[in-house]
Parts: sequence; C-alpha cells; structure tokens
Amino acid sequence: MAEPLVVLDGVNKHFGDLHVLKDINLSVARGEVVVVIGPSGSGKSTLCRTINRLETYESGSITIDGEPLPEEGKALARLRSDVGMVFQAFNLFAHKTILDNVTLGPLKVRRVPKAQAQQRARELLERVGIEEQAGKYPAQLSGGQQQRVAIARSLAMDPKIMLFDEPTSALDPEMITEVLEVMTQLAQTGMTMIVVTHEMGFARRAADRVVFMSDGEIVEEATPEEFFTNPRSDRAKDFLGKIL
Ligand code: ADP
Ligand code: MG
Repeated sequence: MAEPLVVLDGVNKHFGDLHVLKDINLSVARGEVVVVIGPSGSGKSTLCRTINRLETYESGSITIDGEPLPEEGKALARLRSDVGMVFQAFNLFAHKTILDNVTLGPLKVRRVPKAQAQQRARELLERVGIEEQAGKYPAQLSGGQQQRVAIARSLAMDPKIMLFDEPTSALDPEMITEVLEVMTQLAQTGMTMIVVTHEMGFARRAADRVVFMSDGEIVEEATPEEFFTNPRSDRAKDFLGKIL
C-alpha cells in the first residue's frame, strides 16, 4: 500500500471550552476524493482549516506527504501552496484582473517566470471554462465564474491536495452546477480532494468515501453508496432525513 497523502492521527482542538475536533483519525490516499458532510457546527470547516494550518491544534499529529505540518516560516508558506483551499466566499483580489489573480501566487511564491505563469493561467482558465474573462475584474463576473477562477487560482500552485469548504453554498442554484462540474472533472484527473458540501448529488457521483461528522467527531466513514442507502448511526440517519 502506498503511503496516504494526508494522515490525521488523534487530532484534538478546542475553542475555549468547546471541544471542536475530538480525536480525529483520517487518512486520505493519493487521488482519493473524500466528501465531508454533517450538521452545521460539527467542525467541518475547522477540520479543513486545521489541515491547512489556518488553525492550530492541541494534540495528535497531521502529516502531508509524510511531513509533519510546519509551524511557521518558509515551510509553512510551502505547505499553504501545496494545500489548495477554496472557500464559500471567493476571496479574489478585487483590484486585479482574473489573469493576475491566477498568476499572482506562482509569480510571488513559486517564482515562476511571468510568460510561463500567464501561459499556465490561460490553460487553467480554459479548463474551468472562463478563458474569455481573463482581462476582466472579479466584480464583472458571476458568482459561479468567480468561484471557478478561485479554483483555477489554487490549481496554479500545483497543489498536492485541494480542500473545498462549501464552495457552492453562496451561489445561486443555476451556478452551482457549473462549479460542481469543474470539481467533478478535477476529481477525474486524479486530484486528491477533501470536499465539505451539502451537495449530495456531487457526493454520490464524485466521492470515493463519505465522512460524516457530528459534534466534532467522525461518526461514520463509508462509500457514498453505503452511506446514503444504509447509514449506520442514528445521527447520520437523522441528518439525512433532514436534508434528503
Ligand atoms: P461547520 O463547518 O461544521 O459548520 P465549524 O468548524 O465552523 O463547523 O465550527 C465548529 C464549532 O466551532 C462551532 O460551534 C463554531 O461555532 C465553533 N467555532 C468555529 N470557529 C470558531 C472560532 N474562531 N472561535 C470560537 N469558536 C469557533
Ligand atoms: Mg463550515
């Protein structure tokens, strides 16, 4: 068996008195797509942010590609570019063009030559279906288009893994499909992905594994088929009963 790309081993985190990640054990294989679902407040965002070291944790360990998460400095900057993250809010730079949004990281962090960064950015914008918008500014694009730019921007750093935290929950329904389509294609290219979403259609289609969280715990892990047809825990049954 190849070594998993991401391993969380007994990770615990508190916000004050709130025990928000409770003894989390999770391994993600290279090329695997893990969908994390669960009620609001169950710790899904905190899990993503902890893997990216946007949050600290108190005990346990996290490794990416066999390396413990760095705490600071250059190693932390490298980790952040190895771990792409797409949030609910698009977080594009408003005063920069779409092309500049996508080339900024490679130019500043990876020190890629400008012509090469622009060439790659155009390829990525084409892949997410917005090559015509390269010269525009974020406010001139729809929410769905902006989110696809955010995905292209993360991919421009050649991440080892992509984390998605409810990437479609701020979008109008007609734009959700186009973003999920890009994510589904990305999954098919073999990208390792952790995706927090309430889009059960996407989970069924694209996930290799569903992880169900509740109250800071991983309560169930199963294939989408198993999870949606035969959830084992009462908490999962209750949750699915509310959303399906
Ligand atoms: P989810 O993404 O599953 O909705 P979160 O990870 O955002 O859950 O939050 C888990 C719990 O931690 C919630 O009770 C939330 O209110 C709390 N929480 C999240 N971020 C912070 C923070 N920065 N400070 C204090 N409490 C927080
Ligand atoms: Mg969240």
